Amino acid sequence: MKHYYYSNNTDLQGNHTVHTEDCAFIPTASNRAYIGYYHNCSSAVRDARLQYPYQSFNGCYYCCRECHRR
Ligand SMILES: [Zn+2]
Repeated sequence: MKHYYYSNNTDLQGNHTVHTEDCAFIPTASNRAYIGYYHNCSSAVRDARLQYPYQSFNGCYYCCRECHRR
């Protein structure tokens, strides 16, 4: 299992990018928010959407590729 975070900033599509704790592209501590500890990115993204239904999330292409949508 891994700790998952999302970026405070949004990408060009308006999505907050979800990362694992060990991603090389994770934002700095002041630019990310903690989601939780999950078996996979789909659980992390699902929970992020439940917690913040008015925000959009997308998996990071590098660390959460199976959750990455174009
Ligand atoms: Zn990442």
